[in-house]
Amino acid sequence: MMLFEACPPTLAQTTGGDDYPVRRIFCIGRNYAAHAREMGKDPERDPPFFFTKWAETLVPSGSTIAYPSQTGNFHYEAELVVAIGKAGRDIPVVQALDHVYGYATGLDMTRRDLQLVAREQGRPWDTGKNVEQSSPIGPIHPASEIGHPAKGAIRLTVNGHVKQDADLADLIWPVADVIAYISLFYRLEPGDLIYTGTPAGVGAVVEGDVIVVTIDGLEPTEVTVGAPVRD
Ligand code: MN
Repeated sequence: MMLFEACPPTLAQTTGGDDYPVRRIFCIGRNYAAHAREMGKDPERDPPFFFTKWAETLVPSGSTIAYPSQTGNFHYEAELVVAIGKAGRDIPVVQALDHVYGYATGLDMTRRDLQLVAREQGRPWDTGKNVEQSSPIGPIHPASEIGHPAKGAIRLTVNGHVKQDADLADLIWPVADVIAYISLFYRLEPGDLIYTGTPAGVGAVVEGDVIVVTIDGLEPTEVTVGAPVRD
């Protein structure tokens, strides 16, 4: 017998109105040089690195996300999100884009204070990054319709003020490289999402702030920061 009701799959939406069941969330760190520098790191020749979040941290654009517990420095990070559509391990860079279902705008919301303490102490980033409701996402555009965006503006506003303004061409590790790299460690599967990293200009939000992420050619992600989480 089933002891309790199983957790239903987390669903993202496509622009065509289909459900995209989310399996795992991978997030690339320091993938724009100017952001790496603002975080006090040299971006030049470090290999890529990534961390993971639970699928259940995903929330759709339009959500109000509760201000999380145990932080006084809750940060936005605007990101291009890649949705995997075809499984593979040890994927060559030249074939990597064949594994993409589509692309979306998204946010990698972060308890920056906890992340930085963990970073400096050499501890895992889970409490800083794997935060409830911390992975907002817009509708996924199928690559069959829009191709594979390699350039174009990526911007974030808070209450209408521009905070992040960069170009996808500034990615240190482009989408194909990121897919190839992650697939060295994990067999990528349909339903896996990759948040590809954020440009410079990260900062804190407070209750009532409205965050909007836009990327040329993609539907935006918009979320409101709500009251502190209680239950
Ligand atoms: Mn990020």
